[in-house]
Amino acid sequence: MTAVGFVGLGIMGSPMAGHLVAAGHQVTGFDLATEAVRKLAQTGGRTAGSVAEAVDGAEVVITMLPADPQVEQVVLGEGGVLEAAKPGTLVIDMSTIRPETSQAVARAATERGLRALDAPVSGGETGARQASLSIMVGGAEADFAQARPLLEALGKTIVHVGPAGAGQVVKAANQLVVGGIYALVSEAIVLLEAAGVDPGPGLDVLAGGLAANRILDLKRESMIARQFQPGFRIDLHHKDMGIVLAAARQAEVALPVSALIAQLIAAGRAMGYGSLDHSALLRVVEQLSGR
Ligand code: NAD
Repeated sequence: MTAVGFVGLGIMGSPMAGHLVAAGHQVTGFDLATEAVRKLAQTGGRTAGSVAEAVDGAEVVITMLPADPQVEQVVLGEGGVLEAAKPGTLVIDMSTIRPETSQAVARAATERGLRALDAPVSGGETGARQASLSIMVGGAEADFAQARPLLEALGKTIVHVGPAGAGQVVKAANQLVVGGIYALVSEAIVLLEAAGVDPGPGLDVLAGGLAANRILDLKRESMIARQFQPGFRIDLHHKDMGIVLAAARQAEVALPVSALIAQLIAAGRAMGYGSLDHSALLRVVEQLSGR
C-alpha cells in the first residue's frame, strides 16, 4: 500500500485515481472542481481541500492537469507540491506538457530533495477507464522502478523512454500521429459520403485492411453519427500540436504534415469546436468542402 496524493481529477484523473484506490492504495485527491473530489470519495478515496493537503504525508504524488500553466502552478508554485511534499517524495506528472517544463520540474524536485518523473499517457478516456493506458516515462531508472507497480494499476504498456522530458517527447510524437489519423479518417468519410457511398461498410473494409488502426476501430461509428462529446477536447489537442511544433523547432527538424494537422485543429477551435472531441476534425474537413 502506497500513500498517494492525486491532483487533477478530470476526465483522465478521475478513473485513474479510482484504479489506484481499487488496487489498495491510500489515495488523497484534490481538484478545483469539488464535484470531482466528491466522486473520488464515493470510490473510497480521501478528499483534500488544497494541493498541500493532498500531498501531506504522501510517498508518491501524481498530477493529471490540463497544461503547462496548471503544472507550473500546482507543482512549482507557492503552496504547491514541491513546497508541501516531504523530502524523498516521488512526483509523477502524467499531464501532457512541454518537455522543457518537465525538465524544470525534475530540476526543482532534485533541488528540494524530491524526485520527479514525466509520465504522459495515451489511450484516451477509454484507456483511463479500462486501465489500459500506454505510459511513456522520462526520468531516472531507479525512480521508474519505484513508480512501475503504481503505473501497472493504470496501464498496460509502460515504458521507460529516457531521461527527464523524454516521456513528453514521445507523447508529442504520439499526438502528431493521432492527429494525422483523425484528419485522414475524416477525409475518407467526406469522400465516401460525397461520392454517394455509405461510409459504414466503407470504413468496415478499411478497418480490416492495411489502413486498419485503433481510431477506425473505436471511433468510426461515432464519427459517422456525428457524436463528438469528449473524450479528448480539440482545445487539448491544439495545446499538444503547439508542443509538437515547439519540439520540432528545438530539435531543428521539419515536420510539414504536423504543421498542417496543427492548422486543421486550429481551424476547429476557430469554428467553435474547441470543447468537442478531437474526432470533430471531421466538421473542419467537411466545411472545407462546403458540406
Ligand atoms: P480535464 O480538463 O478533464 O481534467 C483536468 C482537471 O484538472 C480538471 O478536473 C480541473 O478542474 C483540474 N485542475 C485544473 N487546474 C487545477 C489546479 N490548479 N488545482 C487542482 N486541479 C486543477 O483534462 P483531461 O482530459 O483529464 O486531461 C488531463 C491531461 O491528460 C491533459 O494534459 C491532457 O492533454 C492529457 N490527456 C488527455 C487524454 C484524454 O483523452 N482526455 C488522453 C491522454 C492525455
